[in-house]
Amino acid sequence: MKMRWLNFLLFLIHWRGTGAVTGQFWHISDLHLELEYNHTSKDPSQVCLSEGPQSVTNAGVWGNYLCDAPWELINSSIYAMKAILPKPDFILLTGDFTAQIIDEEWTEEAVLIIVKRLTDLLLLVFPDTTVYATLGNHDFYPKDQLPAKSNVIYSYIADLWRPWLDYKSISQFKKGAFYYQNLPGPNSNGQIVVLNTNLYYEKNGAENRLNDPGKQFQWLDTVLSEAFQDGKKVYIIGHMPPGFFEKTRNKAWFRPNFNKRYMEIIKKHYRVIEGQFFGHHHTDSFRMFYDDKDNPVSVMFLTPGVTPKKTTLPGVENGPNNPGIRVWEYDRATLRLKDMVTYYLNLTHANLHSPKWKKEYRLTEAFYVQDGSAASMHRVLEKIASESQFLQKYYKFNSVNYDLRPCHRHCREEHLCAIKEVDFAKYERCIKQLSSSCGLPGSLLLFCVMMGFHLIKSL
Ligand SMILES: [Zn+2]
Repeated sequence: MKMRWLNFLLFLIHWRGTGAVTGQFWHISDLHLELEYNHTSKDPSQVCLSEGPQSVTNAGVWGNYLCDAPWELINSSIYAMKAILPKPDFILLTGDFTAQIIDEEWTEEAVLIIVKRLTDLLLLVFPDTTVYATLGNHDFYPKDQLPAKSNVIYSYIADLWRPWLDYKSISQFKKGAFYYQNLPGPNSNGQIVVLNTNLYYEKNGAENRLNDPGKQFQWLDTVLSEAFQDGKKVYIIGHMPPGFFEKTRNKAWFRPNFNKRYMEIIKKHYRVIEGQFFGHHHTDSFRMFYDDKDNPVSVMFLTPGVTPKKTTLPGVENGPNNPGIRVWEYDRATLRLKDMVTYYLNLTHANLHSPKWKKEYRLTEAFYVQDGSAASMHRVLEKIASESQFLQKYYKFNSVNYDLRPCHRHCREEHLCAIKEVDFAKYERCIKQLSSSCGLPGSLLLFCVMMGFHLIKSL
């Protein structure tokens, strides 16, 4: 009996010392600063360089849905972060600092100017906060061609980020733009692993014909094995995610061999990975990872972009988003993700009146789940698959309150399969099965919904 009380007491002490301590951090992505944005231009084709062939009418001070983010919008977002949560434990920034401008109108120097400008702003507004940042596919010249070896851009940026990086990370970053670092605090058990997944982009011809560009996979395997041995927990961050873009069909970024390898590593090391944080899509979504018995073991959160610019990918309808920024609440001792709140700016309203950053939603409130664990996010997926009110809610959040139309059949198939299946072959099977079961007349719609739910449970 005494023993039992002693154990209970020890549990309480442990709980007070660990589980009860909640920290908060920011995750932002895809700032895409466009210094050339000029809303006063009389010529609609001269408002921004990122708009491509379209002309921009009704451009406002805070930006336009056809253009990347002006300096005013970037400032507004960073100062909104300061107003909402002035002292985060740290900030995750998952790449794409620069505007989406074609190479012919771009230079190496332009990349460096923009990364410096944004780094300086973050250092000014958050002087005491470490920012763990990755590069995006636009943060290089020529774009998408990030190499797995030393170069001028990596070297310059590593030096810019000295206030945030330790000596080891600086030298590692210079070699391939990836690194890992312990979280601040003398007793911290946590690590941030920063990946350069642009090396796996199918359009990156520089190095990615190799099996393991920059030996990043081998390095990641070692870092995660050591974290396990040392009893540490890890967050993985990167720009370009594996799997598929949910706003269209069959659009993946990684080469197939790299997609497979990434999944294998997550499957092997999921016990130490408490969260994966990525960007690139500019949308709000998530990706599930399962073990061989189909248990949910890890989840990747895709955070919305700050840029509102409409995606130009073929097959995407209604591609813009409102600017979004996100706070995570986590257990400082275990890194367990407790909750998340996304804030957004209604750009139309901002241009008509003034910029007001508002809470968009809290994860646990919106989807009635306990936390941001893989098991909870699998529950979210089940809800989206089986109840149209949750699908619609998720879909509204996906574009950060921009696209408020109903998510019909094709939309539903694309979102569900992209969330559920990061693996290429399984994604294809999922799309095939969902589309064959849902191409039925209206009276069988219930069957389609049930089938979707069943597929999500059983695939
Ligand atoms: Zn981007």
